[in-house]
Amino acid sequence: MPPDSSVAQLFTQQAHPLRSLEFFPPKDDAGVESLRQTAKALQRIQPDFVSVTYGAGGSTRERTAQVSKILREDLGFTVMPHLTCVGHSRTELKELADRIHANGFRNIMTLRGDPPKGSTEFAAVADGLHYASELVGLLKSQHQDFCLGVGGYPEKHPEAVSADVDLANLKTKVDAGADFITTQLFFDNTVYFRFVDRCRSAGIKVPIVPGIMTVLSLKQIQRFTTMCGATLPVTLVKRLEAAGEDSDIVETIGIDWALGQIRELIAKGAPGYHIYIVNRAKSALALAAGLAA
Ligand SMILES: Cc1cc2nc3c(=O)[nH]c(=O)nc-3n(C[C@H](O)[C@H](O)[C@H](O)COP(=O)(O)OP(=O)(O)OC[C@H]3O[C@@H](n4cnc5c(N)ncnc54)[C@H](O)[C@@H]3O)c2cc1C
Repeated sequence: MPPDSSVAQLFTQQAHPLRSLEFFPPKDDAGVESLRQTAKALQRIQPDFVSVTYGAGGSTRERTAQVSKILREDLGFTVMPHLTCVGHSRTELKELADRIHANGFRNIMTLRGDPPKGSTEFAAVADGLHYASELVGLLKSQHQDFCLGVGGYPEKHPEAVSADVDLANLKTKVDAGADFITTQLFFDNTVYFRFVDRCRSAGIKVPIVPGIMTVLSLKQIQRFTTMCGATLPVTLVKRLEAAGEDSDIVETIGIDWALGQIRELIAKGAPGYHIYIVNRAKSALALAAGLAA
């Protein structure tokens, strides 16, 4: 099986905006089987690539490798595994890079990572890395043909002292060799367009892919946005409150909102969109159908 295409190349070659979907690694074998079924259902919308997140530690990390392999070898997707600095020494990260490369993957979402459960602050292990920019440097020096995505924060990374400092740190990541940026989720497109303008003014030239999540429940999205510092527009909250506990209506509102976001993003020049699908096929399929209409 030939190695995956580089996502950076897809950005320049594809005539259409790139569509990517993000999975997270399940906890057990039953979860892997259910993810396989979800991914099979998603084959027909032909995402340009899919990604698989990397847990803060423990057995889910092996699951990232397992699921990435299934998605690539059994289901034929171009797969971008995520990798973080959490808990790894430089030597381990180099070994992981070699393993990922040997298995035919050429794209990695390159992150510092969130602190493991129970810790509130990120702490590098002995001989470990402190920032995603260092991991970008390490991966590129290990394998020049890796194409690396990095995270970007339109509403500022929660730990950053200011938006300007965060932007300067993002520039460092890109200068270290990152090929594209995928943003943290957001629900108000003006936030994304402002961020892109600020990045371009700062000399960041790589594609900036908007990260979109469809709402499944008001409580869940309030938890996510509190954690990552994203704003929930009042109009969206009011609609979700009016839907109450009716999960079908909530999901319809979530899909409708995301559809509106994606249409405008693409119309105004976003290079693609990345959907945080939380391992569910329904909303990604509904979005694809809505966008095809
Ligand atoms: C698209 C996407 C996918 C994600 N996938 C995962 C995943 O699979 N697993 C996971 O655990 N988490 C994931 N995350 C969450 C991410 O790990 C957290 O947001 C984490 O807190 C920061 O990661 P980073 O790679 O952005 O870090 P960094 O870019 O290293 O930034 C972290 C903080 O340090 C600051 N900083 C950066 N460089 C410097 C410097 N040189 N000096 C001082 N300060 C600096 C930044 O401003 C920021 O506040 C993802 C996030 C995004 C946007």
